[in-house]
Amino acid sequence: MSRSSSASASEARPQTREQYEHEQSEDVIRHLKEQGVEVFHTHLYKGFGMAAEVPEMEDAKRAAAIAHRYGLKVDSYIQWNTLMYESFFAEEPAAKDWIQRDASGQPILLPYGFEQSFRYRPCFSNPNYLAYLKRIVRYAVEQVKTDFIHFDNFDLTPEPESRHCGYCTRGFREYEKAKYTPAQWLQRFWFENLDYINPPV
Ligand SMILES: [Zn+2]
Repeated sequence: MSRSSSASASEARPQTREQYEHEQSEDVIRHLKEQGVEVFHTHLYKGFGMAAEVPEMEDAKRAAAIAHRYGLKVDSYIQWNTLMYESFFAEEPAAKDWIQRDASGQPILLPYGFEQSFRYRPCFSNPNYLAYLKRIVRYAVEQVKTDFIHFDNFDLTPEPESRHCGYCTRGFREYEKAKYTPAQWLQRFWFENLDYINPPV
């Protein structure tokens, strides 16, 4: 790739790469150990999909092995509340059905002031997403041999950004059916068939 004389962004990228590699180098980890640091907090998974992230996940695994060799504990970052859909859907097209949707069917975002609209929230009631997440956690435990996992953005949002997706709507119906008897349904809802109720807005 040739460098454009005017492209300041492309000038910044090599520094970012160097910084990224430096921060998980043996020199830095040894220096941390010498300074008395006991836990090496580092990256593992950010939400782009494992296919996109495997090279960096392998970097995290290498750095964890160095840290363990120096007697440090390792903390691994896992972003569980983001699907960066541009790469994630390319890896897993079915993931279009894994995301949180509001009452209008729109994806619920993890926006940071609506500047990060590429971050869809996955639905934590969706067993397909949870199965995918388990693969990441398994990598952290078995490959990285991490001592501690930091699940980032461990939250749910209130209306108008709460979940009305398929699994959540079905779960809401099952919850209401289990909570009351049919006689109580009639008393509470004024009808007996709860097959079509939706989570309230
Ligand atoms: Zn849902």
